[in-house]
Amino acid sequence: MKLKTGITGKLFIWYSIFVLIFFGTVLVLYVNVHQMMRISEDIMNKNYKISSASKRMIESLLTMEENEKKYLILRKSDYLNYFISAQKEFEESFGDILGLESRETKISFKWKEMNKIYQQFVSASGGVIVSNYSKKLWIPEAVIDEWIRKISEARSENELEVEQANRELNRRGQMALRSGLVGLGISILVGLLGGRFLAHSMIRPLRELLAGIRSISKARGSEPIHIRSKDEFGEVARAYNETASRLKEEKRMRSDFISMLSHEIRTPLTSIRESVSLIREGIMGEINARQGKFLEIADLEIGRVCDLLNRLMEALRLESNTLKIQPVPLDPVPFVAGTLEQIRPAAAAKNNGVEAQLPDSLPHIMADAEHLQRVFFNIIGNAIKFSAPGTNIFVRAEHDERGKTLTFFISDNGPGIPDEEQSFIFNKYYRARGIRDHMDGVGLGLSISKHIIEAHGGTIGVRSSVGEGSEFYFKLPAV
Ligand code: ADP
Repeated sequence: MKLKTGITGKLFIWYSIFVLIFFGTVLVLYVNVHQMMRISEDIMNKNYKISSASKRMIESLLTMEENEKKYLILRKSDYLNYFISAQKEFEESFGDILGLESRETKISFKWKEMNKIYQQFVSASGGVIVSNYSKKLWIPEAVIDEWIRKISEARSENELEVEQANRELNRRGQMALRSGLVGLGISILVGLLGGRFLAHSMIRPLRELLAGIRSISKARGSEPIHIRSKDEFGEVARAYNETASRLKEEKRMRSDFISMLSHEIRTPLTSIRESVSLIREGIMGEINARQGKFLEIADLEIGRVCDLLNRLMEALRLESNTLKIQPVPLDPVPFVAGTLEQIRPAAAAKNNGVEAQLPDSLPHIMADAEHLQRVFFNIIGNAIKFSAPGTNIFVRAEHDERGKTLTFFISDNGPGIPDEEQSFIFNKYYRARGIRDHMDGVGLGLSISKHIIEAHGGTIGVRSSVGEGSEFYFKLPAV
């Protein structure tokens, strides 16, 4: 089974990775913070209490020792009372520490040991440490010192525990900080790489699609595009390729049809033309002026149809790339002069002038004279067709600074071409909407010219605005 990941799927995967990293980081942070809270709770509930209670115990023992001595010397009952309350305080503080022991909280075994010693001492003295008239120390100094030493030891152990807990707190804190930073770093990395990957996986097929769509409007026709991705772009590409191949097939069928038609029409047309010409010349017998007039019209119309057929055939030839260019070095000045000479009668018939504005010398160009003349005829022919009678058409040329290219400009004072039509006029069979019904033409002249200029390695274009005439230009390599 093929894995199909559409754009939504890719976005979802990217988003899921983000969410995973986010929750992973939060989980690590949570575990660490939870541990830190537990440690600090331990310090507060156990170690801090042990520390202050043990301090009180030592103070109580010292108070007991001091008051015991005073009482034995001065025999004042106050000292006895002080002793008793200090002992009470000692036992309370000790009780506080022992009371901390529970299932969750464990206290040091030293406290239990101390408790055993204390209980043994109390039971050995019959449960009463204080005897009113005893002359002896109730608790021998050595025993008190021993107790103080033991409490101090347990206290130090407690402090060590606090220190270790602090160290653990610090370690956990740093770990939380580090994991937060690592999570952030990975998110940034995933964000950047994922973004780049997504952009790449969308922009690349979009570019391919764009190039494919653009190729439809180019003369060479639509090119198939190669997008292998399994997402929506892949589907668009497949749909595009199907449409493109159908277009190609239709184009081929159209060309075949026109070609067949042209051949089929051409033969009988030639016979008709020859017959008409024979009748006009009187070979078939005398004709009167009226008949001659009609035969002249028929001859003219047949000529137009022949011309149209020739253009169609030429366009088909160009389409199948059989245009053979044989460029030779050509001096543009006499070449243009000669070409204009040939076209002037047609211009004069409409009362238009064709004027060359060329310098005395120009760099030579590499061109096929016959084909280039066809370009001049097409463009100037259009200029004559679209210009009002009595206006002039101008031909000029410019070379670039380094003399590597020569550009010809042909301008007229005709109606101009709207901006939105300028990109279509070089397409095959394109004719402006407004002129289709009332002007001669099949929309092939500019397309043929473009083919010829591009076959020379040049470029062709137009600058025009409505009401201000048009200027066609084409650039050719110079020698
Ligand atoms: P055709 O002249 O046979 O219609 P072309 O390919 O020569 O075909 O021209 C295509 C279209 O370009 C024309 O139909 C016309 O709309 C426009 N065009 C060409 N030359 C001019 C011009 N000099 N002035 C205005 N429009 C022009």
